This record gives sequence, structure tokens and C-alpha cells, in this order.
Amino acid sequence: PYGVAMPRFRPILDSMPAYKPGKAVMTADGRSYKLSSNESPYGPLPSVVEAIAEGARQVNRYPDPGAVKLTEAIAARFGVPVEHIALGAGSVTVAQQLFETVGEPGAEVIYAWRSFEAYPLLADLAGVRSVQVPLAGEDHDLDAMAEAITPETRMIFVCNPNNPTGTSIRGQELLAFLDRVPEDVLVVLDEAYREYVRDESVPDGLLLYRDRPNVCVLRTFSKAYGLAGLRVGYVVGHEPVAAAVRKTIIPFAVNHLAQVAAIASLEAEDELLERVDSVVKERTRVREALIAQGWTVPPTEANFVWLRLGERTMDFAAACAVEGVAVRPFAGEGARVSIGDPEANDAFLSAAASFAK
Ligand code: PMP
Repeated sequence: PYGVAMPRFRPILDSMPAYKPGKAVMTADGRSYKLSSNESPYGPLPSVVEAIAEGARQVNRYPDPGAVKLTEAIAARFGVPVEHIALGAGSVTVAQQLFETVGEPGAEVIYAWRSFEAYPLLADLAGVRSVQVPLAGEDHDLDAMAEAITPETRMIFVCNPNNPTGTSIRGQELLAFLDRVPEDVLVVLDEAYREYVRDESVPDGLLLYRDRPNVCVLRTFSKAYGLAGLRVGYVVGHEPVAAAVRKTIIPFAVNHLAQVAAIASLEAEDELLERVDSVVKERTRVREALIAQGWTVPPTEANFVWLRLGERTMDFAAACAVEGVAVRPFAGEGARVSIGDPEANDAFLSAAASFAK
């Protein structure tokens, strides 16, 4: 219909997989439990809604491009200098910005696979070659990742806990790995799920990065802080890293409502972290119930569980959908299921029990 002459797009676009967002499903009688995107099951706190409503009065103006107040609030909360922080519209956008900081022909990025499905997309978009290192079982294979480093390696993503397996790397292993990474290679510790970690041997990247100028930490307001719909995330790294990331931001990317909601969320952090505690309790309940049903469930420090189902993955997702439960299937591999509120978790456990039989 368009004739012969067409705009010429980058060939890489044809081979790029589409990002498949988690979907919701609904039963005929209206039951719907969305456990497919690792969101918080709780709506925003009243104080956060109030801040958003108040902020709405100013949306005729552009947001503060430097997000100064939010940056200061994050710095105060985590005891890091403001110069070490760079914000973006969700941590996936910050990840994209990180790719932009290193992307040039020939550059390589190393990450485990399977891990967060945006990494290969962002690498392709930035023209960076992906070097995917298979998980060993459900865990990062840090030895293999270190061995994959070449003179072309510019960046390494370490997702801890890993999405979608929920597994995490302990301090000693991570330190030993970091010691093997050349100082001119940027290591990004993607800690999107950090607030759900209860195992004390899993290191806090914000302590680790301090004496390592090539290490930075990716965090988000989307999960524990419950602001997935507003899009705000950040990276903490040494001054040159944060400055480079700041240069790659699209002007005004972090909108005003996201900024005020994130500030209000930090102010209400105690309440939000209580909610995280209840998700963690539910995580334990769900995992134990699954194990009692006969499933193998890797230990998880995130707000989801991982079931390696192989060829049965899509059937499992379909069986859950019949009960109104949306999970996140990876065809031929397994399903990731977010921890929701108790009712949603019960619906999932009942679907899993029927499938197991
Ligand atoms: N990193 C990881 C490991 C994730 O799982 C996600 C969300 N699925 C993100 C980053 C991006 O989250 P957001 O852009 O909402 O901050």
C-alpha cells in the first residue's frame, strides 16, 4: 500500500524482540489477579495521593529538570552525596541511559541470561553487542561472566536479586567477582528488588560501590515504593558515572508528579516498608505452600517466585488465566509469579495445585 520507496530504518529493529509487558486477565465472573509485573499490590498511601493531587496544580509548567528536591531527599535517605545520583523515568530508562553512556561501535555488554528482558533490547538500541552468559541452574555464573570479559567489554549488568529467578548473589562471591573486573568496565548492580531482601549475606550495593569507582547501583520507586505508574528510578555511582548518566537524559524526562510522589514516598517510608514486610511474609507462605504441593521453587529474595516449567510453561500460564491469575510466562523456560495480596496469592496457589495434580 505504501509503494516502493520507504523510509529506511535501522536493520536492527527487524531482529529486535518486542518487550512483552505483563498482562492482566479476567474470568467471566470478573476475577482478576495481576501477578505478572512485580508491582506492589497496594495503592498509593493517602499522603502520596495528596502530594500528587497538589502537584497536579502545577503541570502547566515543566518539571524541575534537575529534580533537585528529589535528588536531595534520596541523598539524605541513603547517606550518599547528591553528585552521586542520576534520575530517570523509571530504572529501565536509567538503564537505557547507562547504555547510551557506553554505546559505540564494537562495545560489548555482559549480563546473565535469563535476566531482565529489557537488557537485550536496550543493548540492541544502543548498538552494543550483548554477551549473554547462561545462568548456572537458577543462579548467576559469575566465573563465566568474568571469563567473558574482553577488551571490548564496556559494561556488565548484575541483577541482584535476579529477575525472573529471584535468586541472589552473596557478598563474598560478588566482591570476588568485582575484583576480577577491569577498572575501566562499568558494573551496574541492578537492585530493583533490594527492599525485599531479607538474607543478610546479600550485599547492599550502596555500601559496595563506595570504594569502587566503576560500580554503580540501579534502584527504583516502582516496586517497594509502589509508584510503577509514575516512572521514576535512579542510579547511584561515583561522580563521573552519575554525571555521564545525567548527560544522557531526555530533558524533563522525570515528570513533576513522579518527583513529588517519590519525595512523599520517602517521607512515608516506614509505612511503605511495613507493606514490604507483609509481601515478604506472603512470599514465605507462597513458596512453602508451593513446595508442599511438590513444586521446586528456588529461594527468592524478591517479590516473586520462579517456576521452571520448560515445555509446560504456556499451559501453566493458561491454567492460571482460567482462574483470573496473570503470571509472566517465558515460553519453554518457566513462569515468574509476583507476590500479591493474600487473596491473589490464594487464587494462584489454588491454580498451581490444580495444575500439579
Ligand atoms: N530492573 C529490573 C531487574 C526489573 O525487574 C525492572 C522492572 N521489571 C526494572 C529494572 C525496571 O523497573 P522500572 O523501570 O519500573 O523502574
